[in-house]
Amino acid sequence: MLKIQVGHSYFLRYDPKQWERGKPYPPLATIQVAALLREMGHTLSLFDAMLAEGVEEYAGALHAADPDLVVIYEDNFNYLTKMCLSRMRDAACQMIAEARVSGARVIVAGSDASDQPEAFLAAGADAVLVGEGIAALAALVDRLQRAPDIDTASWTAGLAGVATLVDGETQLVRLGAVPPDPRVVGRPAWDLVDIERYRSLWQERHGYFSLNMAASRGCPFRCNWCAKPIWGNHYKQRSAEDVAAEMTYLKRTFRPDHIWMADDIFGFHVGWVSAFADHLRDSDGSVPFTIQTRADLGSERMVAALADAGCAEAWIGAESGSQRVLDRMNKGTTVAELIAARRRFGEHGVRVGFFIQLGYLGEQLTDLLATRDLVAEAAPDDIGVSVSYPLPGTKFYEEVKAQLGRKTHWRDSNDLAMMFRGAYDSDFYRHMRDLLHQQVNLRQSRETLSPATHRDVHAQLETRWNTLFAHEAEHRTEQPTPSPFMAMQTIALPLL
Ligand code: SF4
Repeated sequence: MLKIQVGHSYFLRYDPKQWERGKPYPPLATIQVAALLREMGHTLSLFDAMLAEGVEEYAGALHAADPDLVVIYEDNFNYLTKMCLSRMRDAACQMIAEARVSGARVIVAGSDASDQPEAFLAAGADAVLVGEGIAALAALVDRLQRAPDIDTASWTAGLAGVATLVDGETQLVRLGAVPPDPRVVGRPAWDLVDIERYRSLWQERHGYFSLNMAASRGCPFRCNWCAKPIWGNHYKQRSAEDVAAEMTYLKRTFRPDHIWMADDIFGFHVGWVSAFADHLRDSDGSVPFTIQTRADLGSERMVAALADAGCAEAWIGAESGSQRVLDRMNKGTTVAELIAARRRFGEHGVRVGFFIQLGYLGEQLTDLLATRDLVAEAAPDDIGVSVSYPLPGTKFYEEVKAQLGRKTHWRDSNDLAMMFRGAYDSDFYRHMRDLLHQQVNLRQSRETLSPATHRDVHAQLETRWNTLFAHEAEHRTEQPTPSPFMAMQTIALPLL
């Protein structure tokens, strides 16, 4: 039996935007792995960076756990880990170094480590798992248990999807995207999480308490910019009964007021969602929940089934109000579907959030105006705005990688720096983000403002929009990266 410390390196404290937002969730994938390793007979402890004051807390946790093996397993359900933020990588590297000094073996897994294992090996990790890495992790743990003094080369020998350093060189046989591992089943190790610490922060900031769950892993869609270093385009859904049982367990054990479903795409099939609703009714286990979904999955039957199951809020990957940009992204949805899905959710009493993305390759002023119009017409209850962020392994990254400067990762999620030469500079997009938020906030407050005040605030906002667009030329980038779409137009013009 080994003493294993499982942990992750997403420190809410190091992400000012998310700290301000104050909606932390326990590291779901990390505690799933903890449950799996415990099931294999090992003694587990957890270092949960999410609510730690800083990486300085790690030394104490390491000392207390005194592990044979440290597994830094990032929470693949936390979309922020997909951003591979440089501040979190720095923290992970410090944790790796401290764990190695303590004498523990160190295995690292996550999106950033899958993309760039060299950085983590250089910090001292013995092995980096590429992708979900469950099979390799199980093999490494077995080998270490059988031979605690095994040298690193023998420990990792012959395992595909495991990166190691051999004579200073990274050695790795990449596997390609592997489907979600069937061994990750059952209840995550919730008992290792300091639930009361989460509860008190949520209560203090929002007056309610939210926990997280996941009904599936992966997503089969192929948006050009979406990084999928863990599951590729594979998708695996748990049974509706199992997911309902976990929600019931959370409701009875921790009494959350709300659940965040961390799936990339929740539900997917109407029959599954209806069965989920039925099981929840039978167990009296329903807790109001939030999902992420796509406009083309928001049929009338699906929205009705979701509302029946207790869905209180749906975030839709809207991205843009320009069909041209959606097509360039290979989003596979239409502006009309977005507006229709938003209306249906609203009719069923489900709040709607739109994820908006600015600055995609080839996006022009007319496209940005279309996005502003979409937000005005569809009137989502909330929006989240980001700028296009090229991550390795995506088609988008391949299109712009020649333009990437020395900075290839955001430091934190509020960075919003343009990493390639988009149509406009970062300031322009930040300004547009702020105005979009003001537009949504104004719409939300129309019931509480007097008509005269609403008119005044609306007029002020219009002035700000007009000012931004009047000065747009000053924010244009010199020689923006041409998109294939634009290049085709350029080639096509002389022929017309
Ligand atoms: S639907 Fe969402 S999760 Fe799936 S590929 Fe597109 S952006 Fe990624």
